[in-house]
Formats: sequence, structure tokens, C-alpha cells
Amino acid sequence: METRITRSWPHTLLLGGFGLALAIWAIFLFREDSTGWGLFVGAAGAFCLAGSALLGGKAPCPDCGGTLAYLSPMMKTPYNKCPDCGAYFRGEAGLVRAIEPDHAADVPQFSITLPEKFVLPGLCCACGAPADRAETVSLGIRLVHGPASLTAQAATLSLEVPHCGKHQGGAKLDRELPEGKLDFETLFVSGRKDPVTVLKVKSYAFYRAFLASNA
Ligand SMILES: [Zn+2]
Ligand SMILES: [Zn+2]
Repeated sequence: METRITRSWPHTLLLGGFGLALAIWAIFLFREDSTGWGLFVGAAGAFCLAGSALLGGKAPCPDCGGTLAYLSPMMKTPYNKCPDCGAYFRGEAGLVRAIEPDHAADVPQFSITLPEKFVLPGLCCACGAPADRAETVSLGIRLVHGPASLTAQAATLSLEVPHCGKHQGGAKLDRELPEGKLDFETLFVSGRKDPVTVLKVKSYAFYRAFLASNA
């Protein structure tokens, strides 16, 4: 399944207008001899202007038809996630392609936000074949963020993840910022969010099976 990337004028104009406003602000700063701030604001403006040209694309998700925004019409992007349905796709030469159901990535790539309760599929998390053993993956986290002179508690999260006899190291635990739509609101308004624990796997079949059985 593939869909075509077209230019999204609202996103292009939003980013472009923002970049232009920053560029004008930078000129004012230069005139007032605030060269350091002028350079900073100017660079941010240039970044937004480049972004509007490079990332002003949109396309329907090949899986659910929801709108995928801030796509690059020209660059290749191997693993992108649909914020609506969680399907992964790749962008290449103006097209968005669904990842093949049996695809296995070189490194744990497909990111599952672990809910309070879940069951893991009986598939190898590296290749998607039926699993016959399990491997423990662990992640050390700090529980408290406070002044450095206080003793911070550390904890280890562990999970038994199914593997087949041929593979090992098909998964890893990680901490990521919660997923959401990439837009101005989440980037500039709502600010920092606490990271959540995710399980990253190599097998797209395992990822899809997890979503299907924990929906
Ligand atoms: Zn989708
Ligand atoms: Zn395997």
C-alpha cells in the first residue's frame, strides 16, 4: 500500500510565516547591537524557513487514512509512525509506503508504549516466527529527580520477551516522551512531558500482534 505526499499549504505557511517573523525579529536585534541574540533568533528563523520547504508535506496514512503531517516531499525517511493508528510507514521519493507485515529492522525500532496491563504475543520479537523461549530485557531508571546532593533511588525494570531459537537481542526497554501529534501546540505550548516506558522490537509482525491483542 502506498499513498502520495502532497504539499500541505497550512503547514508550509505556518512554518514559513513563523520563520519569517523570527527573521524580522533578528534584523531588529542586530540593529540594536544584540548580535548574540540576533544570531540565535536568526538561526531559529532559518530553521523554520528550511522546515517549511522541506517538511511541508502531508499524505493519507496507508493503513487508516488519517493525515500524516510534516512529511518531507524529497527526503527518504525509513521509520515513521502514524499518530492515529500506530502503523509504521516509510517515506521515499514523494510516496508513503506501509512497512511490509513481515519486516524485521536491524535494530529494535518499533516502539510499543507499555500500558498498565498487557500480554506479549507468542512470536519472536526479532523475526516474528513462533517463539519457543524468552529473554530478559532490563532498564535501569532513576525514580526521583531532585537536587544532586540527595540520594536518588534507582530501580530496574525487567521484562521477559519471547524469542525464537535463532535470535537474541530482538528487543530493548527504553524511556521516551509520550507520543502525540507533532504540531505547534505540543512543540511550543504544552512544554515538557514526563517520559514513558516503551518496549522497542525488531519485528514489525510482533509489533502489530501486540497492538491487535492489547487494543
Ligand atoms: Zn494510520
Ligand atoms: Zn526469531
